[in-house]
Amino acid sequence: MITTKKYMLKFTTNNFQEPISYELVKRFNIVPNIMQAKVNESGGGLILDLRGEATDIEDAKAYMEGLGVLVKELEKHVDRDESRCIHCGACVSVCPAKAFVVNRRTWEVEFKSDLCIACESCLTACSPRAMKMELW
Ligand code: SF4
Ligand code: SF4
Repeated sequence: MITTKKYMLKFTTNNFQEPISYELVKRFNIVPNIMQAKVNESGGGLILDLRGEATDIEDAKAYMEGLGVLVKELEKHVDRDESRCIHCGACVSVCPAKAFVVNRRTWEVEFKSDLCIACESCLTACSPRAMKMELW
């Protein structure tokens, strides 16, 4: 069964130059969708969606862990209570994933939940409490 799971990967200087995206596609038939990337002198991190067969994702996870990459599944997600949103725009600038878009025709703030990386920044920015954390 094809599924999509969200992961955080943490690399060290020993493994951050491994061609992991290439191997995910070629060896495991997985489509990686990188939402956020950060690299510095001590390694780096990625937040990404992996889309593929559940068994292939498990195999890919084992492959990455074998390289010494820390692989953590992100099991929470953020949702919006549309009835509470007053389209004030306070969430737009705090969102690192650009998951809020102002519709220039209606001036409403649209929430693109597929871009959300569950960082929780908008929860405190949203005074009407429209944004909420949910566990899968
Ligand atoms: S901060 Fe909250 S109320 Fe304001 S636009 Fe964003 S989700 Fe809606
Ligand atoms: S939790 Fe809120 S601020 Fe963070 S990525 Fe999702 S929508 Fe953006």
